Amino acid sequence: MNADEASGEFTRIGKRLFSEHLVGGNFGNMSVLTPEGYFITHTGSYLDADPAELVLMPKNGRMTPGASSEWRVHTAVYNVSEHQAIVHVHPQFSVVMSFLYDRIRTIDSEGMLLAPEIAVVEGPCGTQQLADAVAEELAHSNIVIAKGHGTFAAGKNLDEAYLYTSLAEHCCKVLYLTELGKRR
Ligand SMILES: [Zn+2]
Repeated sequence: MNADEASGEFTRIGKRLFSEHLVGGNFGNMSVLTPEGYFITHTGSYLDADPAELVLMPKNGRMTPGASSEWRVHTAVYNVSEHQAIVHVHPQFSVVMSFLYDRIRTIDSEGMLLAPEIAVVEGPCGTQQLADAVAEELAHSNIVIAKGHGTFAAGKNLDEAYLYTSLAEHCCKVLYLTELGKRR
């Protein structure tokens, strides 16, 4: 995937994330693996920006100026897993549930099929601590939630990472509303 193709994919997925209210707040970030490293969104860029402004990052732990402030997470995940794309956003119910549970056990049919358990990890934004915690979980799964922060989803392409982002938010919303309903 070259820069133009990646930019088109980022814009397409970014628009879906925005239209389905999954971004939460204003920002998030995305990346896709390439033979030379990985393309990641520019720091502070809107995910639905057209055309998306991308930065090419190496996988060796160095940082290209302009890369998203969460680049450490992306580098760590690509170095310990087979994933080829990552989507990070701050969806509301996922963030809420991360305050309430250390491990989210999904109860709806789609969640139980694709992500019966979603781990919640901790670490300040932009730190190696957060990067290592997220990478440890994504080494053997597609979705993790950073406590009080947001989702990190990964997969074979941006569509799959998008799917797990959407899934996590749906599962968290169903679980939250069900718990609320029990209190009537
Ligand atoms: Zn974030």
